[in-house]
Amino acid sequence: MPMLDHPAMLLGAFPDLQVEPEEARSILRPQKDERYGFGYALSPYRGCGHGCAYCYVRDYPHPLHGPDGWGRWSSPKVNAPELLWAQRHKLHGQRVFLASATDPYQPLEREFRLTRACLDVLLQCPTTRVILHTRSPLVLQDLDRLKAFGARLSVGLSIPTDDDTVRQIVEPKAPPIPSRWAAAERLSREGIQVGISVAPLMAMVDPQAFARRARESGARSAWVGGLRLLSADPFYRVLAHHGWLKVLDHEYQAEVRAVLKAAFPPASSRKQEARTPAPKPRLRITEPHHPPLFEGA
Ligand code: SF4
Repeated sequence: MPMLDHPAMLLGAFPDLQVEPEEARSILRPQKDERYGFGYALSPYRGCGHGCAYCYVRDYPHPLHGPDGWGRWSSPKVNAPELLWAQRHKLHGQRVFLASATDPYQPLEREFRLTRACLDVLLQCPTTRVILHTRSPLVLQDLDRLKAFGARLSVGLSIPTDDDTVRQIVEPKAPPIPSRWAAAERLSREGIQVGISVAPLMAMVDPQAFARRARESGARSAWVGGLRLLSADPFYRVLAHHGWLKVLDHEYQAEVRAVLKAAFPPASSRKQEARTPAPKPRLRITEPHHPPLFEGA
């Protein structure tokens, strides 16, 4: 259950984050846009301690921190599991996506365990499909829960670049890239469906090697989402300063997308492969079910 006795512990554990626990009024947000492919978004937190510089909700208004405070505050919805339990009748046959506009395994989850408690509720909903999306190997702390879902759960690991020096600039508070690969490998080894989300695509050193790495991780799918950005956006200046404006180039995005597509061929090609007497494929590859948060995803 979530820890409500928090202030002193949190000041020490998260010195660069203002933690603002709150009682949410609702927890399931219906998704009516067909493109998203899921029924409800479930966010156990408001705000995100990862504070990615390109985050699509970084302008989220906050009375204290204003538009520049993204990544410096987070509000755990301490009653999220109870709300979800009360609303579980909505979930029959539905898909639930964790999480929208926040990372369900941001650092606070180590203490609050709200995502974990919500998973416990979802485990009681046997016809509900669960889609987790994260940038953090903290997801491994719930390995037992994730495995208990079997085929009705998938995890998307967001790995937007192969270069951790790029990550340090665009996602300075999110976990290092190698730790995400390690998480993808561990989850795959444990039989969990993993997808690699290259979204939003950042500068890459070697897309071919990245695609091989994705394949070797045991992931069953990978996809690319291109960043959409106005030139007036502060992140545009970051990209320009580092010589990374190519990430906005549709040709560059298409090039990386093609490399990943070749590494994870579509279902029709896989059927053709299956008809040949070649050794049995080690993995059954499925199309990604993750929502496209960025263009082209
Ligand atoms: S992890 Fe996701 S929600 Fe959190 S700051 Fe980064 S892009 Fe935004």
